[in-house]
Amino acid sequence: MKALVYDGPREVQVKDVPDARIERPTDVLVKITTTNICGSDLHMYEGRTDMETGRVLGHENMGEVVEVGPGVDKVRVGDMVSLPFNISCGFCRNCEHGLTAFCLTTPTDPTMAGAAYGFAGMGPYSGGQAEYLRVPYGDHNCLVLPEDARERQADYTMLSDIFPTGWHCTQLACVQPGDSVVIYGAGPVGLMAALSANLKSASQVMVVDRHPDRLALAEQIGAIPIDDSKGSPIDQVNQLTNGAGADSGCECVGYQAHDPQGTEHPALTLNNLVDTVKATGTIGVVGVFIPQDPGSPDQLYREGEVVFDYGKFWFKGQTMGTGQANVKAYNRQLSGLIEQGKAKPSWIVSHELPLDQAPEGYQHFDNRDDGWTKVLLHPDGG
Ligand SMILES: [Zn+2]
Ligand SMILES: [Zn+2]
Repeated sequence: MKALVYDGPREVQVKDVPDARIERPTDVLVKITTTNICGSDLHMYEGRTDMETGRVLGHENMGEVVEVGPGVDKVRVGDMVSLPFNISCGFCRNCEHGLTAFCLTTPTDPTMAGAAYGFAGMGPYSGGQAEYLRVPYGDHNCLVLPEDARERQADYTMLSDIFPTGWHCTQLACVQPGDSVVIYGAGPVGLMAALSANLKSASQVMVVDRHPDRLALAEQIGAIPIDDSKGSPIDQVNQLTNGAGADSGCECVGYQAHDPQGTEHPALTLNNLVDTVKATGTIGVVGVFIPQDPGSPDQLYREGEVVFDYGKFWFKGQTMGTGQANVKAYNRQLSGLIEQGKAKPSWIVSHELPLDQAPEGYQHFDNRDDGWTKVLLHPDGG
């Protein structure tokens, strides 16, 4: 089958690889119809993780079930399914509590929690930027989609990662109806956090970024765009909240946060959140941070450490929630919002490409080229 293979920093190629196949009785085999390029793919693409060469990327996957193992009871051939990027078992201690991003069964390293498709440090699982994908524990991991899934793939494809991840960020930040929320990052996840804050009836949603195309998308759904290349985001948020700060805040950038001049400061957005969220406010962090980053220009962050303004954070009595989204905790409900027309996450999609054009898609998205806000790939040519 054809698949997008990581060959080294900024080198990805579509190649022939061995076909994905059923390996265990509980596996499901999915023919991928839509798979998205994600901001977290870029950390791997840029060589800023320990991703091994030769691996197939792609953790935002949906498609049609073409084969099921003999131990699969619910999922059927022909079903259209969304696959959470977390691969989880459903029966371990963390999965029992809905914490499927921290599954204890699916990582091959027993000291780790959590696994994912085509992801550095999250198990050997192949990604879905390919014609076919093996899905372990298929009954548990496949969300069977409604009737209109085939026609509305650009919406439903967001259920594998970024819509639940944006929602999770607002959960971690305890966003309540009527709250003001400041979101750092207007990439796909930040925009989904803004959509989620809207769905939760936040009264004021402020989104900080510096790319005009992304800020325009935030504005399209009624968020207040804040351009941090034109002035301090701290001053701008404080002005918009009459000096009080936002009730809650979302971090949707991660460890490669940089100033408008391009210098990386891994704690930049975390410290801006401490400054722009009110005393006793809550902060959710879903932007990716990693334990080691040998390629970091920041000496401390090579060991995953950041200069966090803990004194001010403590003094303001703030709370912070972190980590990857437990996609299964939300994807069924969010699918319902899409089906009933209450959410249309496809508004951020800028490009839909065949798999063969994935290398160009990566290049443009990585360059943050104007207008390349979210790229969907269609390995089935559809
Ligand atoms: Zn993703
Ligand atoms: Zn588990």
